[in-house]
Amino acid sequence: MAAPHAHPHPHPHPHPHPQQVGPGGPPGPNVLQQFNGDPAMQALLDSLPTRTVPFAFVEAPIPNTQPPQSQQMVVCAEHKLPSCDACNVNYTALNYMHQFLRTAPPEAIPPPPNVQPPPQRAEQIKQAKEAGNVAFKAGNIPVAVQNYSRSADMALSRPPWELAQLSKEETSIALCNRSAAFHLAGAWANALADAEAVIALRRPWTKGHFRRARALVGLGRFEEAHDAIIDGLQFEPEDKELNAFLAEVDAKIEEQNKL
Ligand SMILES: [Zn+2]
Repeated sequence: MAAPHAHPHPHPHPHPHPQQVGPGGPPGPNVLQQFNGDPAMQALLDSLPTRTVPFAFVEAPIPNTQPPQSQQMVVCAEHKLPSCDACNVNYTALNYMHQFLRTAPPEAIPPPPNVQPPPQRAEQIKQAKEAGNVAFKAGNIPVAVQNYSRSADMALSRPPWELAQLSKEETSIALCNRSAAFHLAGAWANALADAEAVIALRRPWTKGHFRRARALVGLGRFEEAHDAIIDGLQFEPEDKELNAFLAEVDAKIEEQNKL
């Protein structure tokens, strides 16, 4: 059997061997074998004072399980207590964490690095958005808003270890479409709030600036709409949608100034 991190090249070499074990030592889990620690951090950890605390394992019943189940608990070696003043130990937090990790749903346990998120999640987020689009085209704004909200909620509740970029893109698309739906319903303030969220998530995307300018026009705030379009044009000066809308907004401003 190959030892963890077995390799033919001669020492010394730049990467540390924190997981190296001698013959007969326990093989580490895969994840640890791939881990190349920072040598300075390892030295710091090694320098910390440690003390050996005697402990034992007991089987403890898990309450409310049918059929009854039990789990191992860490207790003090002498009195078999999870928290013992005489031995000056308290394993409550450790036992709690162990129990949590055993019973938590798989979603609550971070996977090792570089694991692709399950593709179903992206699919569900996309499906909700598309259901929103169908309702939007049919003029059913409440159902469109509901589906865009569902899509945004799912995108935002992606676990924190998944790519933030992915969540940002999905959320901004759902909110941008929801802003358009609110706009169609004449709910300008909601349309504006969504457009601003889109810009906060994805500033270089011209769609967000376009939706913001549209909402501002709805609110009669033409000068701000003009500025919003200029903001968007810095990212894509040739954007047709923004340039056409800029001409429209400037015409409104001019008309207003004549009054
Ligand atoms: Zn004890």
